[in-house]
Amino acid sequence: MRNSIKNNMKNSMKNNMKDSMCNPVKTPKKIYALFTMLLLMFIFESVMLKNRAAIVSVFKNEIHQKPEKYTGTDNFSKTGNDTVPTQKKRIALTFDDGPHPAYTIKLLDGLKERNVHATFFVIGENACHHSEILKRMSTEGHLIGNHTYSHVQLTCIPEQTAIEEIRKTNDVIENATGVRVKYIRPPYGSLPKELTSETTLTPVLWTIDPRDWSVLNTTSVANHIVSRAKDGDIILLHDIFETSVDAAFIVIDKLQAEGFEFVTIEELLQSTAD
Ligand SMILES: [Zn+2]
Repeated sequence: MRNSIKNNMKNSMKNNMKDSMCNPVKTPKKIYALFTMLLLMFIFESVMLKNRAAIVSVFKNEIHQKPEKYTGTDNFSKTGNDTVPTQKKRIALTFDDGPHPAYTIKLLDGLKERNVHATFFVIGENACHHSEILKRMSTEGHLIGNHTYSHVQLTCIPEQTAIEEIRKTNDVIENATGVRVKYIRPPYGSLPKELTSETTLTPVLWTIDPRDWSVLNTTSVANHIVSRAKDGDIILLHDIFETSVDAAFIVIDKLQAEGFEFVTIEELLQSTAD
């Protein structure tokens, strides 16, 4: 009995082996086709991925590429991911009625310390006693303009007298500095039309007037200017008052921190003409 079972098992195993060797299970054609298709898809996807990586890397390089060395002087402001060059805000400090033997010197020291150039509209009869101050202004890069010889209202005097007021002041400035005068600030802002054609000087008024001569308070004058300052403004101050000189220093420090650049009237007019 045991032997017959053993023999049956052997025969059964032999038959199974025979089946697997001589009669393999036939793989349907569909499976071959599917396998081939999957293989092709895999190859195709690999090639595409490689190409896509290369394209993205070129694109990224274009987006993030920065100039190796920027040699210009433009200020850069950030808008989103782009860096766009923009012009710096420019503003001009002007001082009338000087020079003053003490306060103008204090002002020049403070301007030099802060690397700022300003414009001085001097009165001829003050300037003629202080040619050394005028020379220093010019040497240190400041612009000097005409504010008449004796601070007269040019619309209220005879034309010939007005011309004399301007000519004498030009002489004082030019003798002290050797630089030709190009700008005039008429006292009280009034210049007769006839006189404009008589003189080659360019009249310059102002856009911010804190009335420093009346206020005589450093903080109030400085706050008035700083709260209104914008690109292209011309600030009117008088360097014959210490409160105004101190206010100018506060204004410079605050506005420089806000990105303003202080320039002379000539530089300001040139930049607006560009
Ligand atoms: Zn004046």
